[in-house]
Amino acid sequence: MAFWTEGAFYSLTPLQCPTPMCSKAPVLPGRSVNTAPYDGVMSELIDLHTHSTASDGSDSPGEVIAAAAKAGIHTVALTDHDTVSGWAEATEAATALDVGLIPGIELSTQVFDEDNGFEPHSVHLLGYLIDPTHPQLVEEMAKIRSHRDNRLQMMVEKLAKDFPISWLEVRAGIPDGATPGRPHIAEVLIAKGIVKDTTEAFQHILAGDGPYHVPHYAPTLETGIRIIREAGGVPVLAHPLSRGGTPLTDVRGPVEEAVTRYQRWWELGLMGVELHHRENVPEQRPALEEVAGTLGLIVTGSSDYHGSKKPNPLGEHTTTPEALREILERSSGVRPIGAMPAGV
Ligand code: AMP
Ligand code: FE
Ligand code: FE
Ligand code: ZN
Repeated sequence: MAFWTEGAFYSLTPLQCPTPMCSKAPVLPGRSVNTAPYDGVMSELIDLHTHSTASDGSDSPGEVIAAAAKAGIHTVALTDHDTVSGWAEATEAATALDVGLIPGIELSTQVFDEDNGFEPHSVHLLGYLIDPTHPQLVEEMAKIRSHRDNRLQMMVEKLAKDFPISWLEVRAGIPDGATPGRPHIAEVLIAKGIVKDTTEAFQHILAGDGPYHVPHYAPTLETGIRIIREAGGVPVLAHPLSRGGTPLTDVRGPVEEAVTRYQRWWELGLMGVELHHRENVPEQRPALEEVAGTLGLIVTGSSDYHGSKKPNPLGEHTTTPEALREILERSSGVRPIGAMPAGV
């Protein structure tokens, strides 16, 4: 069992970047990687994507760790949207409960479809083991959160024309400092009996292509990758095939075309793709696996646990120890908390 630095990450000095830009993955195109879903023993389960009350999950960071311990997860990553504010509490709980913790983030970014009037599409980028004090990362997270706040208010104003809902009610359900998101509106819609659960809320009222939707500012995917690398983190594209993917992240057409698109992100420092995720449409997964194999991208699998705010149970999809080892080897921001699983 490998043993990585234990204790409070925030007291550590960030490690030196391996290259001036921290950008080039030390893996060459064509290198084969193990892309099989992990079906190892319970004590080695690795789940690299979860949310807490620091963003749009229902469990506090400590409760996420406790739930992971109960579910038999060995190592879990806390990846709240656009914030690291849950790290300190998660670190304390992980240390107390002997759960491995990978501090992370899910950064909101966007891509533009040049073939369709530069139509924007939201893309989520996981960043593992980033230096949380990196100035540009800190600035970007604050900017996104602030725009998310305004945008949520605008959505509630639109909704208030048709439903008995107010910003004050929605605001009351967002913990101080948490990243505001549509699930916070869903909570009020559920409490008022307007919808039965978050899933139903997203089917129409809160849908991205629905009548009440308002987009929010996010950096481009390219900027997101660069910032996470500069902060010493490992950028992994979250659920790139979610509901079929975006015109830039999907892998519908000839696989060479997809490789060309992903290669641009790889050259900027993208290091992995979250292949095993419930929202990735099954018919495109083999092609994404091929793209990852061609470029030597790390393949991960995760639950995207949001507590009661989403049906995804912890450990629904998991990551191999080999993939986690690569993430650890390529990061230079902060170290994980606690003991890592066998094989890492
Ligand atoms: P926002 O960040 O405000 O754009 O809202 C998107 C978030 O809502 C995602 O990160 C998910 O956590 C959540 N979400 C999206 N679709 C659904 C859904 N169908 N059911 C439950 N939660 C969802
Ligand atoms: Fe979320
Ligand atoms: Fe996401
Ligand atoms: Zn997520």
